[in-house]
Amino acid sequence: MNERVERLRAALAEPLLVTNPVNVRYLTGFRSTNAAVLVEPDRVRLFTDFRYAEKARRLDGVDVIETSRNLLASIAGQLAGRVAFEADTVTYAGWETLRSGDAEPVPRRRTVERLRAVKDEEELDAIRRAVAVTDRAFERFARERFTGRSERELAWRLEQLLREEGAEAMAFPVVVAAGPTAASPHADPGGRPVGRGETVVVDAGAEVDGYCADCTRTFAAGELDARLRAAYDVCLDAQLAALAAVRAGVHGRDADAVARGRIDATEFAGLFGHGLGHGVGLVVHEEPVMRPESEDVLAPGNVVSVEPGIYLPGEGGVRIEDIVLVAEDGCDVLTRFPKERTAVT
Ligand code: ZN
Ligand code: ZN
Repeated sequence: MNERVERLRAALAEPLLVTNPVNVRYLTGFRSTNAAVLVEPDRVRLFTDFRYAEKARRLDGVDVIETSRNLLASIAGQLAGRVAFEADTVTYAGWETLRSGDAEPVPRRRTVERLRAVKDEEELDAIRRAVAVTDRAFERFARERFTGRSERELAWRLEQLLREEGAEAMAFPVVVAAGPTAASPHADPGGRPVGRGETVVVDAGAEVDGYCADCTRTFAAGELDARLRAAYDVCLDAQLAALAAVRAGVHGRDADAVARGRIDATEFAGLFGHGLGHGVGLVVHEEPVMRPESEDVLAPGNVVSVEPGIYLPGEGGVRIEDIVLVAEDGCDVLTRFPKERTAVT
């Protein structure tokens, strides 16, 4: 039986009904918008409707049960006793459906997500390939002309480059934010052309074999003024300090504090408005997280982003983001694209 299911079983107090599609994919390799997996001590049942059932029957190690389109109603009629469900995924209406049968639904949280935080070799291989595709696309992108082209046009160009280099999909919509727009961490690319003297925050990642990359670089369109140059240098210093601090056993909030402390000791105090980083895997934001209120502790095999930023309202912004693999004695930076300030035309 597959190792991921075995690890999950070891963590269960009662059978678990897995309904988060990402968790279903993680445990069985099965991609569907309407499937659930019931993991019990002696078997794994996969419930799905007619549209997916044929594909599901080709999976090893699972008993496939074809349901109606109303998945939870079909499942509820076949359950009895205590059955855990994923409280972060099942809706209130879904919970009402589950308890309408003979089962006693028990809410559980983060059960599969905690397993997903520690990557196995197959997953690391896919993430490394997604990161390499992203690196190559950024290298080509840095040779493009930026000034006079709109953020939206540049975002589309980077998406093309990511596809050409081997991305199956975007891990998330490409962010290109220049000038005042770069002062907002998750800006939507707009129609304003990039001007000289602006920082251009570019955040993108390829998806390869279902796994995500996530990379941010800040380019300088022409000469930056002294304040933006200083913001870049402080952000890079904070990023390097955080990379040096990330290792197994470190609390997410302490890693965050390292970068935040560097920024808060400068004129840019208080302008790093988000967390230091997040896990990356089948989805681009997963566990563990590194931010001031995080309860997570880093473990070997975690793959996380390290991405401090400085945001100057009305002026611009800087963010530098790498993906790293956490190890006992430090971390392995997977992103290869350089991060000294890169001038673009
Ligand atoms: Zn990012
Ligand atoms: Zn990120």
